[in-house]
Amino acid sequence: MKRLILFSMLLLVLPAAATATVEIAIAGRAPTQIGEVYLRDGISYLAIDDLLAPLGLKGRWDAVDHVYRIATPAGSAILSPGSHYLRLGDRAIPLEHKPRFIDGRLRVAEEVAILHLGRLAQQPVDYRNLNPGQGQTAAKAAPLDQLFAFLLQKKAAPGAAPLRGVAIDPGHGGEDPGVIGKDGSKEKELVLGQARRLEKLLKMQLGIPVYLSRDGDYTLSAQQRFDVATRPDVGLLIQLHAQNSYAPAARGVTLFVRPLDEASSGVVVGEGPSMALARRLEAALRDEAIPVLGIVRAPLLPLGRGNLPTVLIELGFLSGDSDLLRLKQDEAQERIAQALLKGIKSFNSEQN
Ligand SMILES: [Zn+2]
Repeated sequence: MKRLILFSMLLLVLPAAATATVEIAIAGRAPTQIGEVYLRDGISYLAIDDLLAPLGLKGRWDAVDHVYRIATPAGSAILSPGSHYLRLGDRAIPLEHKPRFIDGRLRVAEEVAILHLGRLAQQPVDYRNLNPGQGQTAAKAAPLDQLFAFLLQKKAAPGAAPLRGVAIDPGHGGEDPGVIGKDGSKEKELVLGQARRLEKLLKMQLGIPVYLSRDGDYTLSAQQRFDVATRPDVGLLIQLHAQNSYAPAARGVTLFVRPLDEASSGVVVGEGPSMALARRLEAALRDEAIPVLGIVRAPLLPLGRGNLPTVLIELGFLSGDSDLLRLKQDEAQERIAQALLKGIKSFNSEQN
């Protein structure tokens, strides 16, 4: 019996690495073939070193910070096995799949080659998976982008009406747990708890409707996730997440806003209502002595487009003791909720 199980496992593991091949090159140059392609959950993973070399880029693993640094003409880019973001300068570019160590090397899903390496090389990159039918990230990438390109418009004229409703989106859910903390805590559960606390405070103190994208543990499509934010009375959207880092000391809240808020005319609106909301939330969190790393403008897909004030809050690192405590303890969760309420109230009075 044991031998049969072992044999089946070998069948599952061996062909994945052996059969696939991809090609990559600076556009117009002769392609380099990469034979080491690992399939995980139907996604092709490639060693980041193998992808960079044909593009004339160099990277190295930083064993102290547990990140992979790539030297690019645009500055240093950073990948981390604990993070869904590729950082380039002060920008955070979202990745659908986190980089991971497989068979001793740091590997990235092929979406990185298809969508992001051109930006790092500052030249167009040709990428081809020669094994159709396996890891079709290319076909999926564009629709996913479109799916998340929701135009989230503020319904009332800016600066006119008081807040009539709030949407809260607790990240992940169902079969997608989000990140898992060192003690097994799941992001999807912690952010839902935090969302419910904030919902209650808003209803009690502002007396306005609050809409949660999910109020239980189930999977949402991108469309469903945005349903609440497109309701006519919703005046702002808060998205709640938590993250992981391989640096044990990493801690603090990060607030993300879309690069620019645009009105329905396509005109960019000053600093933007999202940034104004993020500043108020940041100030309120700091007042509660909750560590804040900062506000980052990033083209994250879940932020959508438009001018609905939208802030994605990474509440802390489940990989660090102090953040984990803050996200789990009732008293600390309540402090976060109070701070967010205060930030929303202050944003609301500033807008009127
Ligand atoms: Zn998340």
